Formats: sequence, C-alpha cells, structure tokens
Amino acid sequence: MREEFRKIRENLEKRRREILDKLASEQPTPASQELARGDSLDIATSAGDREISFMLKSRDLDELRAIEDALQRIDSDDYGICAHCEDPIELKRLEAVPWTRFCRSCQEELESRSAAGGPEAERF
Ligand SMILES: [Zn+2]
Repeated sequence: MREEFRKIRENLEKRRREILDKLASEQPTPASQELARGDSLDIATSAGDREISFMLKSRDLDELRAIEDALQRIDSDDYGICAHCEDPIELKRLEAVPWTRFCRSCQEELESRSAAGGPEAERF
C-alpha cells in the first residue's frame, strides 16, 4: 500500500464505522407497532417519515458500498487510478473524495453527460 493512502484508508474505515453505527441505531420500527397506535393522520405522517428515512438509508448504503469498494481497491493496489482514463487521481482529490473512481476531468465529463441524460453516461 502506498504510504499516502494509509491516512485515507483510516478515514474511510472511520466513515464506514460511522455509517454502520448509524444504520444499526435506526433498526427497524415494526410497521405493525406503528399501525397499532394513533389515528390515520399519525399513520400517514409516520409513513412519510419512513419514506424519508428510507431515502436517507439508501444514500448511506450507497456511500457504504462506495467506501467498501475504495477499501478493496486500496488493498489490491488498484486505488488512486482513474477508472476511465487510467491516469493517477490527484492526491488532494482523493483526500477530499476518498471513494472516487475518477480523476477530476473524467468526473466532470461524467457529470455533464449524466446531467444531459444521454445514453453515453451508461458507459461509466
Ligand atoms: Zn480520468
């Protein structure tokens, strides 16, 4: 492992632990319990909350997957190389966005393509 990735790896593991703790602490309110109390307004409100917390959770899970992917790439010495152009990714960028798989210019290209909604974005 490259020495400069050691710190990044620590940060990734710390972040991973935070997400896992957060997900564990949100474990699950049985739906039957929510239905058993309150009137229909409460049920509607809690259904809305559930949706929001589901959205947050899926964002956390995406991040978790990206972090685990990055950890794996660090361990297999695959890390810090752009998955698109295969140039090294700037260390500053890796420190800011440690789970990134693309260098800055490829990321920008990717974002402008996916913003345009073109089928090209699928290739990434
Ligand atoms: Zn690139």
